[in-house]
Amino acid sequence: MIQRSACVFLRLLSRAPTPPSSCTSKARAGYYGTQATSSLREACESSNYSRTDDEYADVEWDNLGFGLVQTDYMYMMMCGRDEEFKQGQLSRYGNIELSPSAGVLNYGQGLFEGTKAFRREDGGLFLFRPQENAIRMQIGAQRMCMPCPSAEQFLDAVKQTALANRRWIPPPGKGSLYIRPLLMGSGPVLGLAPASEYTFLVYASPVGNYFKEGIDALNLYVEDEFHRAARGGAGGVKSITNYAPVLKAIARARDRGFSDVLYLDSVNKRNIEEVSSCNVFIVKGNILSTPATNGTILAGVTRKSIIDIAHDLGYEVEERSISIEELINADEVFCTGTAVGVAPVGSITYKGNRIEYKTSTQLVSQKLYSRLTGIQRGIVKDDRGWVVEID
Ligand SMILES: *Cc1c(COP(=O)(O)O)cnc(C)c1O
Repeated sequence: MIQRSACVFLRLLSRAPTPPSSCTSKARAGYYGTQATSSLREACESSNYSRTDDEYADVEWDNLGFGLVQTDYMYMMMCGRDEEFKQGQLSRYGNIELSPSAGVLNYGQGLFEGTKAFRREDGGLFLFRPQENAIRMQIGAQRMCMPCPSAEQFLDAVKQTALANRRWIPPPGKGSLYIRPLLMGSGPVLGLAPASEYTFLVYASPVGNYFKEGIDALNLYVEDEFHRAARGGAGGVKSITNYAPVLKAIARARDRGFSDVLYLDSVNKRNIEEVSSCNVFIVKGNILSTPATNGTILAGVTRKSIIDIAHDLGYEVEERSISIEELINADEVFCTGTAVGVAPVGSITYKGNRIEYKTSTQLVSQKLYSRLTGIQRGIVKDDRGWVVEID
């Protein structure tokens, strides 16, 4: 057991990008209290990071779902009015204290990310394309008027969180450690304005399958009343404000026995967009199509990776508008996301009609998924440098 000093000091590698000047308001400049922040700091400074080498945590690895399992450590880094994140550190996983008037609590000024750490047969620990998450958080931060950690700071925080919680990274093939970075306006505000202080926090939880269906096909409900995102809104970034509004649609669909909801565009109610937390693809002959990311759809890292893998396997890929009629007439439909992986769709239900897709033959989605997991597991050559070894 190696004892390390509490809250390892982090050397700043580069400056956080400055948010657009339109975000800076008088309210932001006139700032009075730092109490919330100092109690966060105290919580952090009072704990130790002690590394326990390579034993596994006490988890039933065969029964992992997608539920929160508390791990040992989280990472936290603050940013004040100077808009520079500094002194990031690990602390014991636990509750944080926030001002009742924190921007994130009152006005939803927050973003999240999701990436995974894997353990290979040879014991090596890896992340999959974490730079993509770092960049996506920066783009989201611009949209939400927040300063953001640099890509280097983001990567360092994700690595530290994964390594500090290494005993929670499942054995090879049993799942992964889902890593959840958060960026939030933690400073107090009363009038609607960007917060004066920001907190970047990273925690992690071991996960297995996202859907209770496991690797079975999903049954999606095509929602024609609720929409996930609108033109000009924040659907294209991983803003926390995109998720609570779809809980109602998801709950209604689950009550009726569906796995999740597929949303339509809010203008014409005719083109498919995506599922609550994953992207969607259709297959017709040798062509894969997925809705273009024009601001209402989250540009998934898995989506992007599957497009490249599909090209490698000789498929054509189109990013464009896809009508509900095309969805109905597709040979195959599947979803992609860090949490779900690549999940085949067995049926969609639209205006009371259920359309079933073949799932008995060898699916295109299966070929794509085994290639993707092959790269992650080190069985297929990683030509593009997607996999990052952390230990
Ligand atoms: C996170 C997310 C995805 C998937 O993105 P990945 O980077 O592949 O995990 C897709 N759609 C929505 C709405 C999401 O929140």
